[in-house]
Amino acid sequence: MGMREMLERGICPRCGERMTYLEHRKVGSNTYLYAVHVKKEMKRRHVRKCYLGPESEYINVTHMHTEEGLVLRGMTSYDRALEYLKRIKDYLKTQELDEGRKKLLSQIVTELMDVAGMEGGEEGIETVTISKEELKDIIQYYDKRSTRGMTSERTKKCRDVFRKVFSPGRRILHVQEF
Ligand SMILES: [Zn+2]
Repeated sequence: MGMREMLERGICPRCGERMTYLEHRKVGSNTYLYAVHVKKEMKRRHVRKCYLGPESEYINVTHMHTEEGLVLRGMTSYDRALEYLKRIKDYLKTQELDEGRKKLLSQIVTELMDVAGMEGGEEGIETVTISKEELKDIIQYYDKRSTRGMTSERTKKCRDVFRKVFSPGRRILHVQEF
């Protein structure tokens, strides 16, 4: 079990025992965490504290969304954001979404694909229009890597379209009927 899971379950990551509560101790601008173990022995209250380190390493520990498992530590905010996303994805997989939520989710996904520099959704698909003759040229080039019998203009067009169609991303090849 990782540190985060242990904290989520109320187990002290330092000594492995159940903690009674988590103490936040503020020193200057920093806050440090202590796992407090309170035990009653022979009617005497025995308090033991384990130092857990700066709170910044346990983001959102006290306000954690346990269901989504959104507790992260010691990462840059970008990595943390990605980690959040992964956890949200795992969480959503366990949920039944209604149509409205599914639609909202797909909108978010489309925008995220944009952020990732990928083309998402139908709008992102590029249409390449060519003639039948150009298609024949392209198939010849695809099959044999040969431009035999083509004019230099057709060769250029053929290579351009070929490069375009076989580069990453989704494209519709529209062949004109004339
Ligand atoms: Zn402890």
